[in-house]
Order: sequence, then structure tokens, then C-alpha cells
Amino acid sequence: MELDKSKCFGCTACKAVCPTKAIQMLPDERGFLYPCVNEEKCVGCNRCEQVCPYKGGAMPFETGEAFAFIHKDKNVLKNCTSGGLFTAISDIVLSKNGVIYGATLDENLHVHHIRAVSRQDRDRIRGSKYVQSDLKDCFASIKNDLKEGKVVLFSGTPCQVDGLHHFLGSVNIENLFTCDLICNGCPSPLIWEENVKLLEKKLHKKVTGYSFRPKEWGWNIHKEIAYTGNKKHHSTFYTDLFIRLYYSRLVMRNTCNHCPYTSLSRVGDLTMGDCRNIEKIYPEMDTFDGVSLVLVNSLNGRKMFERIFDTAAIYPVDINKIIQPPLIKSGKEARSSERFWNNYLNDGFETAVREHYGKFCVAKYNIKKLLHKN
Ligand SMILES: Cc1cc2nc3c(=O)[nH]c(=O)nc-3n(C[C@H](O)[C@H](O)[C@H](O)COP(=O)(O)OP(=O)(O)OC[C@H]3O[C@@H](n4cnc5c(N)ncnc54)[C@H](O)[C@@H]3O)c2cc1C
Repeated sequence: MELDKSKCFGCTACKAVCPTKAIQMLPDERGFLYPCVNEEKCVGCNRCEQVCPYKGGAMPFETGEAFAFIHKDKNVLKNCTSGGLFTAISDIVLSKNGVIYGATLDENLHVHHIRAVSRQDRDRIRGSKYVQSDLKDCFASIKNDLKEGKVVLFSGTPCQVDGLHHFLGSVNIENLFTCDLICNGCPSPLIWEENVKLLEKKLHKKVTGYSFRPKEWGWNIHKEIAYTGNKKHHSTFYTDLFIRLYYSRLVMRNTCNHCPYTSLSRVGDLTMGDCRNIEKIYPEMDTFDGVSLVLVNSLNGRKMFERIFDTAAIYPVDINKIIQPPLIKSGKEARSSERFWNNYLNDGFETAVREHYGKFCVAKYNIKKLLHKN
């Protein structure tokens, strides 16, 4: 049976539950992972369909309280995307000899989830990567960790958290703590790869690292840095190209364009995001280094939040005053998305980018940058 791609988040629950390992996650022509069944290994038990979170049901939590959160340690703020909430929570889990799962950008610039038991590995998880993360075999590994009585923190997009819950089913989750992100959508890993290749062509060097939304210009400015060895390349049309593609919603996963998790009903114990517009509520607040928004969704979440009180400056907020689109409704596919994909698949990435952003756009970008400088 043909898979309906508009109903698959790529969460890997079906692959993880399969008793005969008949399911593999393989990329489609747009680079998104989808389950592929090896019919010879399939025994028709149907567990893959039963475990799929797409069928939904009610979200387990209605969010209760909301807070702005700024970690007290400046070094933490420098190395995270918002206000350092993830670091504070994961520090608690590490202090209990627990295990942390989250997304990293590896040395080949691939985004995938890893298991971390040390500060060093946890630090590799910090920071947002605006690309869909490959969960690999994390779900099975989490199940093992829980069975061994370990405390586990899983952080990811809401569809990943929901997929994990569906997969775990009746497993005892007393020691599991989940953090979902406020998520605007996940772009294609293949387009990310193409973007890196184009960047390398423009720079005539191998890109060895990349920083999404570094805080050099402050938390509210969304610009990127590419590294070639020790050299930093920031803020050119090509370093910022991927984020342009992200915000224009040209290359999102299909399900991100009708995402059921974009609401105040949440799947994680805590929700983390950027506390945008907080200066309208607390005009005296210094927001330069970043502010997290924390939504406390469950009793478990409340307990964890109480444990991190001392690590940060915390301000109660009225959720209605700092509400943002991904907490209300799903983003929609860009009108020119199909055209972009057709251009890409027929003529390659550079042509697709030129078609959509053209010379005029590059010139406009450079003029704006020049004006901003003076
Ligand atoms: C694709 C994406 C879209 C987002 N959209 C919004 C938005 O619209 N509004 C908003 O307020 N916040 C959004 N965020 C969340 C925000 O950017 C911060 O990640 C979040 O506030 C955590 O910041 P922090 O300082 O607490 O943690 P950090 O130390 O920055 O830790 C980052 C956390 O995000 C997780 N993570 C990073 N990249 C990925 C990924 N690709 N897939 C799954 N998990 C990932 C890590 O596992 C880690 O837990 C988005 C994040 C991502 C990854």
C-alpha cells in the first residue's frame, strides 16, 4: 500500500515497534525520511499502524502556566538559542546520572538525535538546528534506558515527542521527562545539504561548522555563521540563504503545513520556545542574550520546573500577551513551494534558488546590509 505522505511526521514510532525489523526510514526525493516496509520480513501484525501518532487523539495536556526564563550563567546563554531552559533541565537530569536525548549537528553537518550522558555530549545538543532531525534508533534506546530504571529526558519537536509516547505505550514512563519545542516547521535535510554545498562553492572552502541564530548581534536578530576551520563567515546572502528558505516555508515537510501540534494543547511535560515580545510586558528586562518561554504542561513538568528555579531569573507571563502563531495555528505551505521543488528536481538547487531569489534579491540584500552598516 502506498504511504500517504501528508500523514507521516517521520517520527520512527512504526520502525521502532516493528517486531521483525521490516521497516526502514528512507529519504524521498525531497530528502525527508519515510517508512519503507520490506514485505518479505513483514508479518502483517499491524502494530506499525496502531502506533502511528498521526491518527492523533487528544493532546494529553492543556498548558497551564507560562514563564519567561533567563539562565543566570552568561556562558550558558551564549551557547543556547533562547534563554537556556534546556541546559537547566538537562543539568538536573545529569545530576541524577540520567540520560538525555536531543538533536545535534555533527561534524558532517547532519542533524540527528543523540544520546548524551555527559556534559560534553549534552553541550552538542544545545542550540536550535532548523532542519528536520533524524531520530535514528533513539526510541528503542529510550525504552531500554527506562527499563533499566534510568531517568530520561527527551527533547524534540512535538510530533517527535508524541511519536515517542505512542511507541512506549504501556512501558512505565515514571522516569521519563519530555520537552517539546514551539515549532514553526522542519525544513528538508536534503535542501540543507545542498545549501552547504553551494556555500562551499561560494567560499571555495569546506564548511566545517555552522551556527544557527548565534547571539553575536543579539537574540532577536536571525543571522547565521558558517565556519571554514577557524574562519567565521557571517551575514552574506549565501550564509543567510537557508534561513530565508526556512522563513519562506518553501521546503518544509508536508505535515508541517497542516501541523496538529500548533496549539496550547501540548504533548511534552514542558514546552520551550523563544519568549518573543517579552519587552512589551517587562520593558526593563535585558533581553540581548535571550529569553526562553516555558509552558508548564503537566505535574511532572511543574516538579521539574521547581527544581530549576534557582538557576534563572524567572518572570510570570500571561500567555495571551506573548502568544505566537505556532501556538495557535499551523503555518501554510508557500504558494511557490511546488514550483521551487520542480525547479530543484529538474534543474538543481542553484537554478531553483536563482529562480526564486534572483540577482535583484541579492542586490537588495547587499544594499540593505550597506545601509544597516552606516
Ligand atoms: C525546527 C525548529 C523550529 C522552531 N520554531 C520555533 C518557533 O516558531 N517559535 C519559538 O518560540 N521557538 C521555536 N523553536 C525553539 C527555539 O528555537 C529554541 O530551540 C528553544 O527555545 C530552546 O531554547 P533553549 O535556549 O532552551 O535551548 P537550547 O540550548 O538552544 O537547546 C535546543 C533544544 O532544541 C532541540 N532541537 C534543536 N534542533 C532540533 C531539531 N532540528 N529537531 C528537534 N529538536 C531540536 C535540542 O534537542 C535541544 O533540546 C524552534 C526550534 C526548532 C529546532
